[in-house]
Amino acid sequence: MVDALYRRRAAAGTLLFDEGDEADCAYIVERGRVEIAASRATGNVVLTRLGPGEIFGEMALVDGAPRSASARCLDDCVFVVVGRDQIHREIAGATPLMSILLRTLIHRLRVATSRVVSPALPIGIDETARIVARIEGEHELRRALENGEVVAFLQPIVALDGAAPAGFEALARWVHPTRGLLPPTALLAPAADADLLETLDFAVAGTAARAVAALNRELGAAGRAPAFLSANFSAPHFADTQLAGRLAPMLEEAGLDPIHLKVEITETTLIVNPHAAEALARVKALGASVSLDDFGTGYSGLSYLSRFPIDHIKIDQSFTSRLVEDKRTAEIVRSVVDLARLLDISAVAEGIETPEQARRLAEMGVGFGQGYLFGAPVPADAACAAFLAA
Ligand code: C2E
Ligand code: MG
Ligand code: MG
Repeated sequence: MVDALYRRRAAAGTLLFDEGDEADCAYIVERGRVEIAASRATGNVVLTRLGPGEIFGEMALVDGAPRSASARCLDDCVFVVVGRDQIHREIAGATPLMSILLRTLIHRLRVATSRVVSPALPIGIDETARIVARIEGEHELRRALENGEVVAFLQPIVALDGAAPAGFEALARWVHPTRGLLPPTALLAPAADADLLETLDFAVAGTAARAVAALNRELGAAGRAPAFLSANFSAPHFADTQLAGRLAPMLEEAGLDPIHLKVEITETTLIVNPHAAEALARVKALGASVSLDDFGTGYSGLSYLSRFPIDHIKIDQSFTSRLVEDKRTAEIVRSVVDLARLLDISAVAEGIETPEQARRLAEMGVGFGQGYLFGAPVPADAACAAFLAA
């Protein structure tokens, strides 16, 4: 079986493959001409002659059926050979809809060009049902974003030395017309499928930024310190280095000073995007800061602290929930916080549900906390009103 892309030379007259042959590769002509022919009731018929830049033998790569025509070199030829495994990897990476479209097209073509009765289309009802569900999900999400059904809830983040509110995390919620209030899990997968994660994040961060900017004007008028906003930005934002350029007009429009924005990212984002360091440097040049979410749940959290311009870490709730009962967890958190302090990185503990957890974290030097103990995520106006009243 041919697995990689490689070149093949063949002299004029060479039969590259014959009708009925097993097929495991396609050819791209680099030099020379090739004649494609097939047997018909009237005899052997030349279907086409191909030259440099053209591809042939591709149908069998998709459906694995035997060759339906022969290919013979008219000149001394050079081909790039494309292996079946390679194509199958790419088809596997395509969306389910693209994969089904491709297979259906090949099947239709075979039915149209073959003289034998073709087998049924090798696509099951389950597979199409999954695709229909996915297409519906994408349509629904687009509609929801257009109709303003995707909103930002705000959860307070408090200073652990006294529990005074310091800022918020914006968390996506779907106010669904029939299914009620839905969590981010209902939004994130369809958004990823539909390439709408960036739109979703900006919808959430944008509405949250407007609310926090308005709150900060009121806090300023009352002589109080401004609140910060932590917002989640998913991996696709970092496919290039332009996030800062897209954030600037959003913050400007919302009226929020960039220094009050914390861009929350996860370790995965840093792993998958070679541009992440540069993109984050630009976010920081804008004045915003960078927060590493779900810290401790990934592979090598510590190395990221030295390689990327991280200002804050969010200690994952799996640590918070275990630290009172489990001495080892407590020691891990303590050393992470000590290290963060040496690196001038502030720590926020997530998922604080009990006063004992809050006390222990404060004792270890964790500066900020977030969790149901201090407040669940609530609609932005309610969260801002509670902040003002605190
Ligand atoms: P996250 O960024 O780590 O957010 C914290 C999650 O913990 C939130 O879940 C929050 O409601 C939940 N939480 C807060 N306090 C407590 C607590 O005391 N106990 C427990 N058990 N949980 C607590 P939520 O809102 O369901 O969000 C889940 C995840 O979805 C977020 O995790 C974040 O990764 C993602 N997400 C939310 N909104 C957005 C968004 O606008 N854009 C992107 N890209 N991701 C988002
Ligand atoms: Mg987060
Ligand atoms: Mg988190």
